[in-house]
Amino acid sequence: MSQAPNPLDFLALDRLLSEEERLIRDTVRAFVADKVLPEIAGWFERGELPRELAKELGALGLLGMHLEGYGCAGTNAVSYGLATMELEAGDSGVRSLVSVQGSLAMFPIHRFGSEEQKQEWLPRMAAGDAIGCFGLTEPDFGSNPAGMRTSARRYGSDWILDGTKMWITNGGIADVAVVWARTDEGIRGFLVPRGTPGFSTRDIEKKLSLRASVTSELILESCRLPESAVLPGVTGMRGPLSCLGEARYGICWGSMGAARACFESALEYAKTRVQFDRPIGAFQLTQAKLADMATELSKGMLLALHIGRMKDDGVLRPEQVSMGKMNNVREAIKIARTARTILGANGVTLEYPVIRHMNNLESVLTYEGTNEVHTLVLGQALTGISAFTSSS
Ligand SMILES: Cc1cc2nc3c(=O)[nH]c(=O)nc-3n(C[C@H](O)[C@H](O)[C@H](O)COP(=O)(O)OP(=O)(O)OC[C@H]3O[C@@H](n4cnc5c(N)ncnc54)[C@H](O)[C@@H]3O)c2cc1C
Repeated sequence: MSQAPNPLDFLALDRLLSEEERLIRDTVRAFVADKVLPEIAGWFERGELPRELAKELGALGLLGMHLEGYGCAGTNAVSYGLATMELEAGDSGVRSLVSVQGSLAMFPIHRFGSEEQKQEWLPRMAAGDAIGCFGLTEPDFGSNPAGMRTSARRYGSDWILDGTKMWITNGGIADVAVVWARTDEGIRGFLVPRGTPGFSTRDIEKKLSLRASVTSELILESCRLPESAVLPGVTGMRGPLSCLGEARYGICWGSMGAARACFESALEYAKTRVQFDRPIGAFQLTQAKLADMATELSKGMLLALHIGRMKDDGVLRPEQVSMGKMNNVREAIKIARTARTILGANGVTLEYPVIRHMNNLESVLTYEGTNEVHTLVLGQALTGISAFTSSS
């Protein structure tokens, strides 16, 4: 007879992975156990993420891991997804570092950059020697980035950039910022190296979510860049949106990592915490919570894996990624909140991972397209009618 289900992989999805995919997953899981979990509560409390971690992630081949050449590992999409799941089981901030580096900074250079731009940045970024960020959101344009005010105008053979980008992950530690700006030709992407005159950053303090992640404002004041700074391969919102599609894909998986960590913590607690002379896991109300959590976790992982296989087959549509991001982050938050109730008062301290994940997931719910925006993407795909604005 087959074995009793593993609570953390109740539907035995492990069987659906190749040997190489399992090896990558187990390697990242071991890295997280060794390098992230012993430190993460302190990093979260102090609001820091050591820069050296990027080099260690690079040495493991996790930065831009689904890209080909230029020092990148060139894995399939499922392996990349499994890596983000394991990283986010550690902390959403660590996964954000990897997502932004690989999907939002390296991906546009790889896909839309000139050969010189690729040679200059990608090998260093894959190694973690250079860090990138992605500047799309502005103080007045979040869900509607197409309204952006940041502008780039030609000045002889150069460009002059003006504007402010807000809520930019890795901004304050980045060696290069991929900045999207309005031009006479449409939206264009620019590579802005740290230290360029007229370019500065200011870190956003007092976040109570994703504390182990640098989030910054990017300020461009008459920032002059040569023609070679433009990403030549794309014009229009297609550029930034294609990057977001890549990062959202990682979140379909990553959110399930955070959920799994919360579920694991709650299950262990339920079996050991005694009240009324019984483990709290013996009470039906606790068992109902655990059963729901395990079910949603299994469904979410199955969804992520299915979307990953579609991506590897080259048939995945953005609306399908929206469904994955919307569902899995929503369910991960529910799992985190339920786990917190099982831990009682211990659920509110950093001694346990649950409240950290729960707070982190609030940012994950908002960035890369809010829950509402992905709901509207699905609504539009289903009805053929856009509900984004009152006039359309
Ligand atoms: C920790 C963190 C890191 C981030 N990192 C980055 C980054 O690296 N790069 C980057 O460019 N951005 C980044 N962001 C920004 C993020 O992408 C935006 O916060 C997000 O797009 C939402 O924009 P907003 O916060 O301005 O909210 P708003 O767009 O003002 O939305 C506020 C609320 O209104 C809702 N809403 C808006 N429009 C509609 C509509 N048409 N119908 C129904 N509801 C609507 C939203 O869903 C939301 O609930 C980050 C954000 C956070 C919190």
